[in-house]
Amino acid sequence: MNDCLFCKIAAGEIPSTKVYEDEYVYAFNDIDPKAPTHILFIPKQHIQSAAHIDGDNSFIVSKIFEAISKVAKDLGLDDGFRVVSNVGESAGQTVPHLHFHVLSGRDMTWPPG
Ligand code: AMP
Ligand code: ZN
Repeated sequence: MNDCLFCKIAAGEIPSTKVYEDEYVYAFNDIDPKAPTHILFIPKQHIQSAAHIDGDNSFIVSKIFEAISKVAKDLGLDDGFRVVSNVGESAGQTVPHLHFHVLSGRDMTWPPG
């Protein structure tokens, strides 16, 4: 049995606020937003993290970034946005299913904490 939270969200088994969906990609609002716009983009297929991207699944990452670009245009994120993927616990990954945070709507610092 697959107990992965984001697999269940992508399958519609756990509710989420959908922002975008296609054959490979699902995007939804983060439940605890860190910026006025905070969307999570995930592959429908389970991939644990960016450290688990390989020649067999990397095409899905290009699909995710096509979706990010489209949604950013549709939502008018013209002042900019940040794309973040935490890999592993020390980097802040709490859900072990690859996801890209898209944050926008406020000034951001660099480097991140
Ligand atoms: P990370 O800490 O990088 O693994 O990011 C996981 C993100 O998932 C966090 O920003 C959480 O707020 C978010 N999150 C956890 N559970 C849910 C949920 N049920 N619906 C939407 N976002 C969630
Ligand atoms: Zn999963």
